[in-house]
Amino acid sequence: MSFFVMEKDMTYDVVVIGAGPAGLSFAKALKGSGLKVLVIEQNQEQDIQSPAYDGREIALTHSSRTIMQALGQWDTIDQQNIGFIKEAKVSSGNAPLTLDFNSQDSGLDCLGFMVSNQNIRHACFAAVEPDEHVDFCFGQSVQSVKTSDNMAQVTLSDEQTLSTQLVVAADSRFSQSRRQMGISTDMVDFGRTCIVFTMTTEKPHNHVAHEMFRYDKTIAVLPLVDNQVSVVITIASDKADDIIQAPALALAAEISQSVDHQLGVMTVNSELYSYPLVATMASQYSAKRFALIGDAAVGMHPVTAHGFNLGLSSAWQLAKGIKKARQDNQPFYQDRVLRRYHHSHKRQSVPIYKGTNVVVKLFTKNQLWAKAARHAVLKVSKHVKPISQFITKQLTQEQI
Ligand SMILES: Cc1cc2nc3c(=O)[nH]c(=O)nc-3n(C[C@H](O)[C@H](O)[C@H](O)COP(=O)(O)OP(=O)(O)OC[C@H]3O[C@@H](n4cnc5c(N)ncnc54)[C@H](O)[C@@H]3O)c2cc1C
Repeated sequence: MSFFVMEKDMTYDVVVIGAGPAGLSFAKALKGSGLKVLVIEQNQEQDIQSPAYDGREIALTHSSRTIMQALGQWDTIDQQNIGFIKEAKVSSGNAPLTLDFNSQDSGLDCLGFMVSNQNIRHACFAAVEPDEHVDFCFGQSVQSVKTSDNMAQVTLSDEQTLSTQLVVAADSRFSQSRRQMGISTDMVDFGRTCIVFTMTTEKPHNHVAHEMFRYDKTIAVLPLVDNQVSVVITIASDKADDIIQAPALALAAEISQSVDHQLGVMTVNSELYSYPLVATMASQYSAKRFALIGDAAVGMHPVTAHGFNLGLSSAWQLAKGIKKARQDNQPFYQDRVLRRYHHSHKRQSVPIYKGTNVVVKLFTKNQLWAKAARHAVLKVSKHVKPISQFITKQLTQEQI
């Protein structure tokens, strides 16, 4: 890696907007393509190299682990800091009925892995930092993007304009470049806020994840390493402050009770972090000499834990298509290559995005019909083995 210096008059084949985990993974995945890549990030290098803890503990699928291994990211994570989900239990309201998913059903050791967003971001940067094919421009935001048949251009906050062959936007679910490229986006503001923090438990969690759809809020308790769990509460935004300002002891007692005291005495051991819940899906993941990856393509509600898993897959798929075009001596930025990526990522992400939004709506409404419907969903899923086996397969099957 080196830093971008305009005076060098360096030209780049690909400009990536955003050094979040998706942008960094994509830049890394282009290694060996012979393309020179510039990643532009509005934050300073220090913020990307040593990211602050942000409360997010990310559930990763087996496919994501495989991609992270292939990109040299997985091995840079301290393996002692990786948690395992071996079983998941989903419940609704006060009903005793729970839907169980077990890793044994899939013949694997675990359903998925738990890694903090801080460690993921650190690993993504550490893996790509030494690479010669990538340069970084920190502390500059992309102000505008324009593309034509002949080239793409980005203008930075210091008013420099760079020409390139292809712009790949990984600039978050509220992507400015997506808007500038005239790509419309489906947005669902759930009017809810997600509050995340970690807790220490008295009794072992046995690697079981609990997801409880209560009438006014959803509580997830996810197993981390040792006796640590990540707690994710989603609640109507006007009630979020009641939780954020609640005394730690009262909050701990509520969470302990939500899992029927199976984890013994629980103690809040981190700050509380809150995120407004807005899901987004771009109508197109590609345009002329332009592609969207990560949350910029599809920003998920976190309840089904798919956001980064999809984002990583998008980075991998797009890079794979570009490398294939290079091998075939085809222009890597041509519409055909980008449209193929658009179609394959749509096929993967649309069912997950739409399905998640239906689940969220169904499980957060308090009307009688909704309560009855979710009870029925849990009952059918519990007793019709192929349904729970299908969901387990989605988590554990390698899909790259
Ligand atoms: C509470 C919570 C829990 C979650 N849990 C899970 C989970 O269990 N499993 C899962 O898979 N996912 C989960 N996610 C989703 C996951 O965190 C995101 O999908 C992922 O972090 C998105 O990465 P990204 O690189 O696409 O975008 P971001 O991380 O948003 O990165 C975008 C980058 O672009 C930069 N940028 C933006 N605009 C510009 C500009 N104009 N110029 C230059 N730079 C710019 C930003 O500074 C930033 O660095 C969760 C999310 C939340 C909020």
